[in-house]
Amino acid sequence: VRKLLFAALLFIAAAAALHAEPAKRPTPNERRYTIQVTDEMRRHSRIGDTLYGVWTIYELVVLIAILATGWSAKLRNVAARLVPWRYARVPLWFLLFSLTTTLLYFPIWYYAGYIVPHQFGLTHQAFPAWLGDLAKGLGVDLGVGMMLSILVTLAMRMFKRWWIAIWLGSIPLMIIGVVIWPLFIDPLFNKFVPLQDAHLRQLLLTEAQRAGIEGGRVYEVDKSKQTNEMNAYVTGIGPSKRIVLWDTLLAKMDDGEILAVMGHEMGHYVLHHLWKGLSFAIFIALITSWCAQFFFERGVVRWNLASERGDPAALPLLLAVVSAVTFLLSPAISGFSRYTEHEADVFSLELTHDNLAAASSFVKLAEDSKVNPWPTPLMKYWRYSHPPLGERVRFALEWKGDNAQPATHPKPHR
Ligand SMILES: [Zn+2]
Repeated sequence: VRKLLFAALLFIAAAAALHAEPAKRPTPNERRYTIQVTDEMRRHSRIGDTLYGVWTIYELVVLIAILATGWSAKLRNVAARLVPWRYARVPLWFLLFSLTTTLLYFPIWYYAGYIVPHQFGLTHQAFPAWLGDLAKGLGVDLGVGMMLSILVTLAMRMFKRWWIAIWLGSIPLMIIGVVIWPLFIDPLFNKFVPLQDAHLRQLLLTEAQRAGIEGGRVYEVDKSKQTNEMNAYVTGIGPSKRIVLWDTLLAKMDDGEILAVMGHEMGHYVLHHLWKGLSFAIFIALITSWCAQFFFERGVVRWNLASERGDPAALPLLLAVVSAVTFLLSPAISGFSRYTEHEADVFSLELTHDNLAAASSFVKLAEDSKVNPWPTPLMKYWRYSHPPLGERVRFALEWKGDNAQPATHPKPHR
């Protein structure tokens, strides 16, 4: 739910600007241009792939079990006894339902989110802090889910073709979500401050000017409390639009590598990938909403899951359908993402002309996250949101400068 950014919650979160000591960064002579693929990487990737499959199946099994055992209907009856007003029953049902799923999902969350990252040295976060982050995340999901459950059941009661209402309603919610998430939700988990290193800030401002970005905001975030991995991203719309660098990345990459990473992020900015991504998400929501009504209504009749239109007791079936459709659409979603990520890589190379810095940044990203840089084609096409790092290193090393760019790669339209 967090990824989909359906949000209309109001959270008050003020991040006090703490002045951190600027991190001392590595020098260019620590660069390497080939990824050392280790058994540990392969094992870590295998566990990740297995967990993805297990999670997909387990989620469906849990949802179907909650329906088949009549547990969902029982929770609806409890909610009906506790509150008289019909519409207040729906979010209360969702709360009880979420408590159930949280208990059932927790072992997998704990293994995938705590045990595995510790086993591979990807984090040093203590258990209480990890649990606190999980609880906050669940709180956000709960708030969003309760609100959505009201809207969805309302649409089911009001409209015959409620999938259209849900789809149209999801569009402003997604946009609001993208606007408010970086301002109100992200600060619940981490502290965001403007980039502290003055020298680096100047380099990035110059780079941004060359990329044609005016008044861009660059933040650094204290991700090191949760992970040792590195990342940077672009997010937000309008007042919340920003580029965010994890402090882990600032600590491990030299100036040139950071400029290469930032060139990639600026590519997302300049090539309007956020709006393109949003348009694509709206298209995916259209397919999902149509499938949701089609399969949901047949299932409800067939298994007699609802006592009336918009009965929350049947909602786990809706979640199961959405989850299954999302799984089946994964190759398209991942493919779209990989395409824009590659465009951003090309943009960065054209901006910085520093393909060696790009290659070494990819080497560091791969070795640091301990992900196999050469996944099997099935895994790549199904779930890789970025081209595998092995391919990105090779592309950067083979890149021939501005005019001799290989014809097979799309040129960014600026
Ligand atoms: Zn990217």
